[in-house]
Amino acid sequence: MFNEWNVKHPIWFANEDIHDADEPYLPSLFEDSFLQWGNEASALASFRVGQFGIYSRDGRCHATEGHRIEEMNISDEDVVRSALQAAFDNKGTSHTVASDIQVVAIPITRRNDEKIFAALLFISSIDVTPNLFELEATALHYKSCFYRSFEQLYVKDMLQYQERTDKEASRRDALFLVAKRLYDQIDVTSVLSEMLHSLETLYPDSEVNMHLSQDYVDGDPRVKPLVFKNTAHDIVAQAFLDGKPAKEHDRDGGMRLAVPMSGKQAAYGVLCITIGRGKWDDSDLPAFLLLADTAGSAFENAKLYEQSNLLINELKLINDMTKRLNQSLRVKEIFQFATSELLTIFGADHCCVLQLNKETNQFVVKSGNIPALATETYSSEYGFCGIIYRTKEPLIISDYWNTRVVTSKLMDNTGSRSLIAAPIFVDGEVVGAILITHKKASFFSYDNYKLLQVMSTHIGLAVTNASLHAEVRRMVITDNLTGLHARHYLNEQIQNRQRKDAFGSLILVDIDYFKRVNDTFGHQVGDRILVQVSNIITSSIREDDIAARWGGEELAVYLPGVRTEKALRIAERIRKQVAEETDPTVTVSCGVSEWTFDNEKISVESLFYRADMALYEAKNNGRNCVIVGEN
Ligand code: GH3
Ligand code: MG
Ligand code: MG
Repeated sequence: MFNEWNVKHPIWFANEDIHDADEPYLPSLFEDSFLQWGNEASALASFRVGQFGIYSRDGRCHATEGHRIEEMNISDEDVVRSALQAAFDNKGTSHTVASDIQVVAIPITRRNDEKIFAALLFISSIDVTPNLFELEATALHYKSCFYRSFEQLYVKDMLQYQERTDKEASRRDALFLVAKRLYDQIDVTSVLSEMLHSLETLYPDSEVNMHLSQDYVDGDPRVKPLVFKNTAHDIVAQAFLDGKPAKEHDRDGGMRLAVPMSGKQAAYGVLCITIGRGKWDDSDLPAFLLLADTAGSAFENAKLYEQSNLLINELKLINDMTKRLNQSLRVKEIFQFATSELLTIFGADHCCVLQLNKETNQFVVKSGNIPALATETYSSEYGFCGIIYRTKEPLIISDYWNTRVVTSKLMDNTGSRSLIAAPIFVDGEVVGAILITHKKASFFSYDNYKLLQVMSTHIGLAVTNASLHAEVRRMVITDNLTGLHARHYLNEQIQNRQRKDAFGSLILVDIDYFKRVNDTFGHQVGDRILVQVSNIITSSIREDDIAARWGGEELAVYLPGVRTEKALRIAERIRKQVAEETDPTVTVSCGVSEWTFDNEKISVESLFYRADMALYEAKNNGRNCVIVGEN
């Protein structure tokens, strides 16, 4: 009916006609128009002598009016049919006369193309002389009644259509605004409150609820968790599970509608509206669905934004920690820093970092905030460290009290229930473990667990770095042949001690006639003797003392906090031992010097100079002796 409706022309329906698509409307149009026509035309003489009927092209009679003829029989129906047929076939008025009745059929044509779509029938007994002119005139009258009804219906339809379009347009506007506002919100709380507020405005007499599938704490009583109890009778759960709207009616004719809120990746909950009798219009459904999906998408965006924020924060943490870790080249410092950092990041109660001692195969507590465990050592099979060592995997325990997989002194001592733990790897080998605990059960999230895993990797890298650095430094400060310290290390250390201590002594040891030894036994033997003498020196001094290879076959020992009397004794011991134990036998001469805090000028050079002078004197004294230099 609206196909040719063109808004550009204000006289819209003047040229409107019925179409095949209008078929369903026709019976009521025939009836209405026939009734109107009957009222207006009943004064005609024909009404008193015969009966009128309106018939559509398929031969159906839609209404009758006028003077009834008693007892129409089967043959009469045949007369009606043949009269109709004649009118339709000849495209003009037909007049059929049978034994007892006669039928005049006047075709009714469409106003634009003159196509016959109905016929007005006049049926009377044969003694009546039908006034054909009057009948044709009244048929025209009927046609105008028909088109009047048609136009009325058309206008009514159009108004309804317009009304619906207006309503949809305004709803679309509202929806657009809501959607726009929803997309402006990036935190979940704003999305939810904006959504509820908008729905209250759009549906003032309703109750709107939101059932969310994900953890969300807001305090708004309209926002509820999605529960899956008795799903067969719960339209909210149904809507969520089926991913399509579900509807139920109450006894008072009110309605409850549940619509899933879906984003691109998942459904985030169900939007539910309870609305009183007659307040809901089904044409609102598409808008409502769209709104729910808009909310779903907005919710998803907000979630993704939150997640990416969390990720960014995690990356920042990792970045900061890595930077700080790499500033330190001492393993102990790394462990200490990691402990304090991890406690803060996870909001944990306790943290414990252990290092594996490869020789004893034991975990040693290196750092942590549990004084009772500060110096503990555990077998590599014990407790959670044992599991980590065995599996090389991180761990998460949500409640130690309920799932006591192993006995853990750490958990028992601190009264902890939650644990996350991760191995520290260096070159793919477990070299340590990090254990983090909290007294509350289920305190750590899966994300925490994953983050710890990442961080332990970085701690492992920092440890590797520090170990490598320590190794390089060891190589730099150690003399290859003798295993004693290098000269520059000795200098550094004496300098350091001179800043802190009150006094210290230096012994210079020089092998006697070493040239001769080399000449006699060869350089290799000379080297061996050098090693023998070095070993004698190392075994004669304390751990704090520093022995170094000062030059070719000159060795030096610095004795921090030692005066010359004692240094002399030590030098004597070395001298004697060398003379007795070396093979081939050599002797050494020693020069001893000391510095004290009240020296005018304290320096490494002066200390060496004086020891060297004493050594020179010892050589001049016939060798194999110790001389103490003057202060
Ligand atoms: P003196 O009793 O006066 O010390 O006599 P000396 O022959 O030991 O003389 P001096 O200390 O001046 O000689 C150092 C010699 O030590 C020179 C060199 O042949 C030898 N020497 C130095 N470094 C090494 C080394 O690393 N290995 C060996 N085999 N010999 C060395
Ligand atoms: Mg010598
Ligand atoms: Mg020498």
